Amino acid sequence: MLELINHVVGISARRDRTEINSAMVDAMLDLFHPERLVIYRCYAGNKKAMVFACAGAGPNGPFLRNAYLPDHRYCHPIERDPLLNRCRKERSAVLDHQENGSHRIVFPVIRLDAPIYLVDLSLSNEFSAQQRVTLMGLIEYFGNHIALLDYGEADTLTGLASRKTFDKHLFELLGKAASDDLLSGPESRRRGTPDSSHWLAVCDIDHFKQVNDNFGHLIGDEVLIMLAQEMRQSFRFDDQLFRFGGEEFIALLQPTEAQYALATLERFRTNVEKQLFSRVGHITVSIGFSALMPNDTPTDVIDRADEALYFAKRHGRNRVDCYEKLVASGDVAIKEIAKGEVELF
Ligand code: GH3
Ligand code: MG
Ligand code: MG
Repeated sequence: MLELINHVVGISARRDRTEINSAMVDAMLDLFHPERLVIYRCYAGNKKAMVFACAGAGPNGPFLRNAYLPDHRYCHPIERDPLLNRCRKERSAVLDHQENGSHRIVFPVIRLDAPIYLVDLSLSNEFSAQQRVTLMGLIEYFGNHIALLDYGEADTLTGLASRKTFDKHLFELLGKAASDDLLSGPESRRRGTPDSSHWLAVCDIDHFKQVNDNFGHLIGDEVLIMLAQEMRQSFRFDDQLFRFGGEEFIALLQPTEAQYALATLERFRTNVEKQLFSRVGHITVSIGFSALMPNDTPTDVIDRADEALYFAKRHGRNRVDCYEKLVASGDVAIKEIAKGEVELF
């Protein structure tokens, strides 16, 4: 009992999804001694639901991954694992007896009728009714704590991540970009546009003042909510979406080549163009985007994407422009580069 309370206190002290996962893994290892344990984050996904193994423990000991930045190496479609899929469909704990005598239990953490996490344990010994109730309580507590955290971090109007979390995520991403292979290495950076890198896109609604002026602020807000929904559908589950300010949104794209980043953003732009926004009718968005560079600060990359956005605004709106392309074609002057990152191209 005291052990359980100590762990709950430990979890409640954390304010970061990754750290909360880590404390949850410690608690479950300590209290239930599973042979194997995985905390999966669930993403509804555009076509198929995906899971990301963000923390757990296996034969090689505990593992922990950044819970905010799903690493595609540890993501897979949920269908690939029938027990996880069953748990998602039934939205309740599911049990499977393994051939070696152990059993596997998966518990869902439900939000708005859909699981946002799945907690997957393999246990060798008999699992008493009391242990089961304790575990369910702990997982419920975990879900409530995450919900509180999300409530503090999300933008209240659209439910997307808010500006508050943006800097933190971007710093983490930039740290990663500088330290590992997210950018495709110095050769390609020297050569020109990186073949594959993270991209930051700034998206601004065209003539949004007119929407407010003609239909009122409440209808304007409704448009923002619908746009956020469209954004969720247009991007991949592992792209990070933020409401950055009033009617400005940011998408942080997973590593890809410029042409695919452009295709994704174009798809979003045309989806918005086609959609009927209830009373307002049609709206359009302009988008500017730029590659994340290892020595960037958040301001550096936003400034470059903004530059491309202004270009899009000045050249007819309802278009997507890439900063690196505009520099290469001489349409915009290269931004002053700080901190010795001299060779953009
Ligand atoms: P542009 O095509 O140049 O972007 O024209 P615009 O009218 O959209 O200009 P700008 O982006 O500068 O305008 C921002 C407007 O967005 C100002 C304000 O009326 C509106 N706005 C900002 N935040 C909110 C919000 O939370 N709700 C609503 N309804 N409107 C907002
Ligand atoms: Mg604006
Ligand atoms: Mg605008």
